[in-house]
Amino acid sequence: MILIEQGYLVLPTGVMQGTIAIENDTIVEVAPHIEAKPGDVRIDAKGRYVLPGGIDTHTHFEMTNAFATTADDFESGTKAAIMGGTTTIINFASPFEESLLEGLRRDKKRAEGRCSCDYKFHMEILNMNEQVAAEIPKVVEEGVASFKVYMAYSFSIDDRSIYEAIKAIAPTGALVAAHCENGAMIAAKVQEMRAEGDTEAKYHPLSKPDTIEAEAMHRFIRLGELADYPVHIVHVSSAAGLDVIEERRKNGAKVTCETCPQYLLLTDELYNQPDGKGLRYILSPPLRKQRDVEILQAAVERGVFQTLCTDHCNYTLAQKAQGLGDFTKTPGGLPGVEERMILMWDMFVHSGRIDPVEYMKLTSETPAKLYGLYPKKGTLQVGSDADIVILSPDVTECMTSDKTHSRSDYTPYEGMTVHGRIDDVFLRGHHVVQDRKLVEAYKGEFQQ
Ligand SMILES: [Zn+2]
Repeated sequence: MILIEQGYLVLPTGVMQGTIAIENDTIVEVAPHIEAKPGDVRIDAKGRYVLPGGIDTHTHFEMTNAFATTADDFESGTKAAIMGGTTTIINFASPFEESLLEGLRRDKKRAEGRCSCDYKFHMEILNMNEQVAAEIPKVVEEGVASFKVYMAYSFSIDDRSIYEAIKAIAPTGALVAAHCENGAMIAAKVQEMRAEGDTEAKYHPLSKPDTIEAEAMHRFIRLGELADYPVHIVHVSSAAGLDVIEERRKNGAKVTCETCPQYLLLTDELYNQPDGKGLRYILSPPLRKQRDVEILQAAVERGVFQTLCTDHCNYTLAQKAQGLGDFTKTPGGLPGVEERMILMWDMFVHSGRIDPVEYMKLTSETPAKLYGLYPKKGTLQVGSDADIVILSPDVTECMTSDKTHSRSDYTPYEGMTVHGRIDDVFLRGHHVVQDRKLVEAYKGEFQQ
């Protein structure tokens, strides 16, 4: 048996000083005090927080599209995840030229044996027809609990297709999420900018202003209302978008949503940096104004969001530099899977804006509930998987790219000082990260 002794256990009911006992891959006891027996492995967690492993519900590892292939594959991405206290990721399976089932099976095969944290897949719906509708229940049977549609970019589908996708998914009970931006309006804006010769990074946020996000969110929520089924909005980036969500909720719409560290910490000022440095921050939706950042932070405090995830989708500096002279040629996305847990702890718990229980719900428990993983994941309960993080609250560290384990050669959070540090991580009872070192890789398993 392994005993994690006398830590501050972050339980759904509150923080309790106590001990957790692990047998094989499972939590077998949670109590104020557990007597150690000869042969037990004892870990002293006094003065440290003990949390259920983080769940990052939005990663793009090993993703290839017309532009580029992400710097992180399943190996490097999940190593970064586990080092940062995330024990389960949900990655996107894209069936580009295949059926849904083929796309899912291909990604399962690619990930197998190469992941250092547990994993699951969202299924992207890149077109909608009778064959896709017939396959939806089959991929659910094979472990998919969520679907995503895009309202912009080359893989977007039209409103009727989105409506029909929601109707087809509804009987399975799976989650339906959308990337909400008005694709046609982005194309119009980009064309206007090209005509003016406005091709530097600073024009990126102007090519997809908050109105473009808010309009698409409104349309997607309404499509959910028409289909009489709840919807989920990924990576909310703006105050305008947030207004739409809150307005529709007041009117009875069922909508859940997420945001990410980049929208809570960074602003569009970063696009003004010289020498192509602004290109590093290109992602969609873009970084917004300081006012948006503050409104989103306050919304986290008010409990508007269900999850804090990353949209980790990283490229190297060389890949980002493809957009020199034309920002639309830069592949969009930022890293963050390793930084998320500690950035959010520092920003919200260390600062006293939310308590450790709310933090645990945003980073682990509610994601587990939304994506069919609870109570196996997302909680320190008897019978749950022993996915456990031990966090030192009183250490300060400076974030630098050379400390991270992803294949990014930069971090958007370079030079930030954070309070708190992930020391140890257990994955289904395996003590995979010990004193900030990855001692057991590739223990990750697909989560049905
Ligand atoms: Zn994404």
